[in-house]
Amino acid sequence: MSAELDLNELVTNPRLPSGALLVGDRWDATTSAGRRDHVNPATGEPLASFALAGPAEIDRAVSAAVAAFPTWRDTPPGRRRDALLELARLIDAADVELAVLRSLETGAPFKRKRGASLAGEWVRYYAGWADKIEGATIPTSAGPALDYTLLEPYGVVAVLTPWNGGIVSAAMKVVPALAAGNCVVLKPAELAPFGPLRFGELCLQAGVPPGVVNVVPGGADAGAALVADARVGKISFTGGGATARRIFEAASRNLTPVVMELGGKSANLVFADADLDAAAMIAVHAGIGPISGQGCVLPTRLLVEDAVYDEVEARVVALTRALVVGKPFEDGVQMGPVIDEANCARILDVIDHARTEHAGRLLTGGERLGGALARGYFVAPTVFGDVDNASDLAQHEVFGPVLSLVRFQNEDEAVELANGTAYGLGGIVFTNDLHRAHRVAAHLEAGYVGVNGFPPMPPGAPFGGVKQSGFGREGGRAGLDEFLRPKNVYVQL
Ligand code: NAD
Repeated sequence: MSAELDLNELVTNPRLPSGALLVGDRWDATTSAGRRDHVNPATGEPLASFALAGPAEIDRAVSAAVAAFPTWRDTPPGRRRDALLELARLIDAADVELAVLRSLETGAPFKRKRGASLAGEWVRYYAGWADKIEGATIPTSAGPALDYTLLEPYGVVAVLTPWNGGIVSAAMKVVPALAAGNCVVLKPAELAPFGPLRFGELCLQAGVPPGVVNVVPGGADAGAALVADARVGKISFTGGGATARRIFEAASRNLTPVVMELGGKSANLVFADADLDAAAMIAVHAGIGPISGQGCVLPTRLLVEDAVYDEVEARVVALTRALVVGKPFEDGVQMGPVIDEANCARILDVIDHARTEHAGRLLTGGERLGGALARGYFVAPTVFGDVDNASDLAQHEVFGPVLSLVRFQNEDEAVELANGTAYGLGGIVFTNDLHRAHRVAAHLEAGYVGVNGFPPMPPGAPFGGVKQSGFGREGGRAGLDEFLRPKNVYVQL
């Protein structure tokens, strides 16, 4: 059977998880919070229903993780590594199926030409750490003694993920927690439950023991119950700032430590000496195209030096108008819908507000798409030019396909504008001046900076924000250390 036939079969007859919650070794199809229909954002039609977790299911999931912890913690590190390597193999083997699932539930364009899976890469990277977690011996000057550290897991880790991350988000958080010997309760957002539920199936299939990973999609009440549970040793959250504040408050009651991966308004700084084609391409194909601008680290503000502003603006508008918007499995589609009706209405409101606020010149887009796309949640790719950096449009995350161009006169002003929001997640510098590239990268208040390109999230690199984009890191050794705490042992000799 050809790859194309396989794909047709997968799309018309998708292999969706049953929609039951994974708690311990049980799949619960009936829960206290009932079932919810997931609507395909490209068609507005129900895709499938799933069980929602309520506080009762969260309580059982935490109990299952507590029960599984002693055995998982004491499992030889090499066996934890092997189970996670098998998980990576299964994820890679299911790559097409998982990509179809993601396109069905989020509307993201399906990429026919598939390479190594990003989720598989992250899982493999952290599998490799499981048997390399070492403490230190500490010199002491207080007489004959041996002082050493043990790096220990927290116990139960609560992982709360947004709808846009899919199983990559799970791989970035759940897998380092497991490699470090923790057990996890994963609570994905109710807007995209199927990818994370499939991740739970693959964990069991890979030989991760029941209870070590529990997957309980649910709404705010389920999340609130999870972060308030005193048995949770650490919280790792990815999502919006308002939710983060609520979680921080709840966590403060038990003094539970947290990692916060929040939103951004990342700037893409284009200097006159840059490769303008590459800069315009990244601005449109990274800033607007992928998942319709619904990504935390996407460069949604394009800061352009005055001398080349008009030229860059013209290229960006031409590329934006050329973006192929459509349903995710149509040939050549580069941008899909936004996640649901509520977000579609919210994004259109943001655009209207920007127009009435005179935030900038609307250059293209600005409307909901009709015709064959009318039943889905499609917002036209939208660009505003000469945006005032102080406007709401430039200051706040839109989380939709809307790019703001801002003009600057010199390097100092560029850095000031880039840093002039409450956020600090990512940033990109386009220049062919080596000194300027490093100088600007050093001065950006951001956790994740690219030079002449958009960083592709390699698992060994620490990812995370500063200011209101959060704290803590995913990726690399820093991402592993979030799930370990040192114990010092002093032995009097
Ligand atoms: P959200 O904050 O609404 O939800 C995130 C998660 O928190 C969901 O699982 C949700 O059910 C849960 N939740 C909601 N209320 C809660 C409460 N009171 N207590 C506990 N949990 C609660 O975010 P979203 O709309 O799903 O995702 C969009 C946001 O996520 C954007 O701001 C985006 O920038 C951010 N994001 C950040 C990163 C990053 O790594 N920095 C990555 C992806 C998305």
